Amino acid sequence: MPSAVTADALVLGAGIVGVSVALHLQKRGRATVLVDRRGAAEETSFGNAGLVQREGVYPYGFPHDFGALLRYGFNRTIDAHYHPSAIPRLAPFLWKYWHHSRPARHRAIAQLYSKLIEHCITEHQALAAEAGAMDLFRRSGWMKVFRTERERDLRFAEAERWRNEFGINFAALDRKQVQEKEPHLAPVLEGALHWTDPLAAVDPQAVALAYLERFEKMGGRLVQGNAATLEADGSGWRVRTAHGALAARDAVVALGPWADAVIRRLGYDLPLAVKRGYHMHYRAAGEAVLNHPILDTERGYFLAPMRRGIRLTTGAEFALRDGMKTPVQLNRAEPIARELFPLGDRLDADPWMGSRPCTPDMMPVIGPAPRHRGLWFAFGHAHHGFTLGPVTGRLIAEMITGGASFVDPSPYRADRF
Ligand SMILES: Cc1cc2nc3c(=O)[nH]c(=O)nc-3n(C[C@H](O)[C@H](O)[C@H](O)COP(=O)(O)OP(=O)(O)OC[C@H]3O[C@@H](n4cnc5c(N)ncnc54)[C@H](O)[C@@H]3O)c2cc1C
Repeated sequence: MPSAVTADALVLGAGIVGVSVALHLQKRGRATVLVDRRGAAEETSFGNAGLVQREGVYPYGFPHDFGALLRYGFNRTIDAHYHPSAIPRLAPFLWKYWHHSRPARHRAIAQLYSKLIEHCITEHQALAAEAGAMDLFRRSGWMKVFRTERERDLRFAEAERWRNEFGINFAALDRKQVQEKEPHLAPVLEGALHWTDPLAAVDPQAVALAYLERFEKMGGRLVQGNAATLEADGSGWRVRTAHGALAARDAVVALGPWADAVIRRLGYDLPLAVKRGYHMHYRAAGEAVLNHPILDTERGYFLAPMRRGIRLTTGAEFALRDGMKTPVQLNRAEPIARELFPLGDRLDADPWMGSRPCTPDMMPVIGPAPRHRGLWFAFGHAHHGFTLGPVTGRLIAEMITGGASFVDPSPYRADRF
């Protein structure tokens, strides 16, 4: 076998999770090489809604009320869509997801998950400050807007419980207050829940690229290579890259929705699936301004003011990762969004699609591979990968370097499955 260039650590996948892991390792003195088949943050971490969701203590569960299930069954909603042909393959995952979403189990998961979420703002801010990237974030928080009093009151009560239990801050806005904060929204709203803690990125890819630049300034490298070539090499790991073979004692799988391409070959059969989502940018019509990212709660789409324009993002599409693009949710949402906010022309030639990497218990996989020394897992961040990238990065780097962990990592280990 030809001799390989060596490093201390390889990080496979340069999305927000991989970049954050690599930066944290490099900060701790580990010579780290990031490996991606593309450039950094060109996949899921490119096109998300850019929220650092401090309020996201309950990961998104599978609905349990009969009415919602019936609505989803007809496959005509905006917030969820499925490919009927994919359901037989997805059924085992969906069954487990449904099981973990039962109210008591979901509550127990939120207790564990909130321990990661509670650090999301401080960990992003720490990296952003070092990377000179603070101006890529707005501190506006974000808003859930409501069209009915019933939904509004339900969500206000839920927010109150989360404030007491998890220390999450919010403002409950009535009709008039929503209009004051967002004068260009149509006056059809009964109120809004303004989560005041979250950060909102104006370009999530640029955030990842700023963290990458910081990593490179500290001596780290990004190289092109195929993570699927990873193999054990003596007491460490080796991967083939465009610059030849690369070997290191530790290897971190941070491949988001493609994690299975590496771990399956090594004998790990984890229950992974994706929830796909789309985006499109729009010019704001005339002089209209959107001051906050907003979720049109009852309709199920999201509008985020970004550098490029207003980014409309869609909810979950249950389909195979590599199945055909079907932006039906985007097409359904667009006319409704135009009635709520004066959107101008579309700015992208085609809708963008990304795949949220999901586990059935809604928690990421963070920690050592159960049966291989020096192999680490950092994937499955679902709806909150942008939120949690820096938290996961720090946690993995602390585990690899053997320091005390700032969060107890045991609930997120792969051997829970
Ligand atoms: C519409 C939408 C909106 C979202 N909004 C939010 C939000 O507001 N807040 C939030 O926190 N999260 C949000 N998310 C989720 C978030 O985007 C993801 O959880 C996150 O980007 C996952 O990051 P990652 O680094 O794990 O994966 P990715 O960003 O997908 O990175 C994986 C990397 O692996 C590389 N790769 C794959 N295969 C190989 C291979 N064989 N060899 C080498 N490299 C390979 C890819 O090129 C890619 O760069 C949203 C997602 C979507 C789809």
